[in-house]
Amino acid sequence: MKRRFAALLILVAACGSVVSCAREENLLGRKATRLIPEKYLNGQAATAYEQEKKSHPQSPNAGHQQIVKRVGDRLIDVAERDYPQACLGFEWEVNLFDKADIVNAYCMPGGKIAFYTGILPVCKNEAGVAAVMGHEISHALLKHGNERITRQLGVQAILIGAAIGVGSSDMDRDRQRIILAGLGLGSTVGLILPFSRSHEGEADRLGLFLMAKGGYDPSEAPDLWIRMTQISKGKQPPEFFSTHPSHEKRIARLTELQPEALELYKKAAVKHGKGEDFR
Ligand SMILES: [Zn+2]
Repeated sequence: MKRRFAALLILVAACGSVVSCAREENLLGRKATRLIPEKYLNGQAATAYEQEKKSHPQSPNAGHQQIVKRVGDRLIDVAERDYPQACLGFEWEVNLFDKADIVNAYCMPGGKIAFYTGILPVCKNEAGVAAVMGHEISHALLKHGNERITRQLGVQAILIGAAIGVGSSDMDRDRQRIILAGLGLGSTVGLILPFSRSHEGEADRLGLFLMAKGGYDPSEAPDLWIRMTQISKGKQPPEFFSTHPSHEKRIARLTELQPEALELYKKAAVKHGKGEDFR
């Protein structure tokens, strides 16, 4: 009985600590509720990412690999320099998987970045990769995955956060699926968790600034989303479009932000313009 009471006390204390650190300002100053411990999410993401690496071969095109990896290096440098706090606990990794039928890219919590070759024709060039990657890295820096999972699980998230806090992470399959979908693995677990409009607005803004600071011409970002709209017309929308709705507003927003982004681009130590084209 005594032991059960002690366990209950620990659970309540853990609940308290989880909830008290749950509402924090994100990088852009918006208060957000995140109930899953970041360390836990990063760990889950790293495991899921290892699985992706086993399931899909790397792109055999060395030139394409180089382009995606060097965009990664440059944007990660900017993120680490300007947002070191948000990058705490990140173990960055960039991979280009050889899957022409997957039009998708993501950055998981903890900095695990995946591009699938199916998205390269939409990116068209290096600056296009920087636009997509800047946007995806921003979702990770802003901890949107945690917020999405918290919202989807509701009060269950408090219990999960507390259970993880006391060292138990037993979870039923549905909860596990929600977490994996929130990490970016929608197609693998058959559950799509779209980003909310406010998340999209934040990732567009921060992502555009990341690409400009990394030395990529920010005017490529609205062009990229115009290409996305053309490609998604008529066909079954690929995963990237299911998790990233409403393109028109986005194109208008990215166009509106150009003067601010151009100022940052001008200040970049090295400029790459649109970089290399994919061929
Ligand atoms: Zn997004």
